[in-house]
Amino acid sequence: MRCQICKEETEFEEYDTAKHKWYVCKYCTNAFSLPKKDVSYTQEFYDYFINFGHIKKQSYVFQNFMLEMEDIFEVDGFNFQDKKILDISGGNGHFVKKFEKFGARAYLTEINETVVKYARNRLKIPAIVFDLNDKRNKLFEEEFDVILLRSCIMFCEDLSLLLKNLISRCHDKTLVVFYDCIPPLIKKMYQFENDDYIYRFFYDKEYLYKSFEENGFDVIQHDYRNALDKSVHYVLKVKKNG
Ligand SMILES: [Zn+2]
Repeated sequence: MRCQICKEETEFEEYDTAKHKWYVCKYCTNAFSLPKKDVSYTQEFYDYFINFGHIKKQSYVFQNFMLEMEDIFEVDGFNFQDKKILDISGGNGHFVKKFEKFGARAYLTEINETVVKYARNRLKIPAIVFDLNDKRNKLFEEEFDVILLRSCIMFCEDLSLLLKNLISRCHDKTLVVFYDCIPPLIKKMYQFENDDYIYRFFYDKEYLYKSFEENGFDVIQHDYRNALDKSVHYVLKVKKNG
């Protein structure tokens, strides 16, 4: 069997859960999941983003997110006035929209057209359909000052493809923040065992660092954060090197 991330024919540690099987690659040390039966995106999944929240403006998760983001940027004394901020796979757009209160100009991508239309029409922010894993996809034409990738890296099957896309939208001072990246933790593999739709890839920190370096980025800050379930996630800030 071939690793879905490094593409090597190698050996794996396997973790069997109710609806998926997880494989930890002995060569690249990343983990990926395969469903036991076909699971596809459903429109209902995205309708939920709009009708019931995902990120509800008043929710604890949302408020908590914003506080953490303020912390992340406060450290750098970041001034958002007139800065362009892009949230990749940013759900219904309410999260990135919030940065307008700091003077930023918010942009959004999502894989699903319903949420993209919602962000454009209801929130009045530029939004495009963008699939992390589709080579034909391009991000916006402009360069951004801040690019946020929250949990979406766990759906990215080719990090190098994504990073090439990102770097084309960066200027020398662009800050790219990878927030909420889950390391290959056994606890996390079992956490979603009864769910049909779960994260696909957990990246090892060393592999992430190597991929950034090979694609023209330097890691400028790395922190662990405690997620709401007390497990450890990574937050990484990267910049174009040189
Ligand atoms: Zn591998």
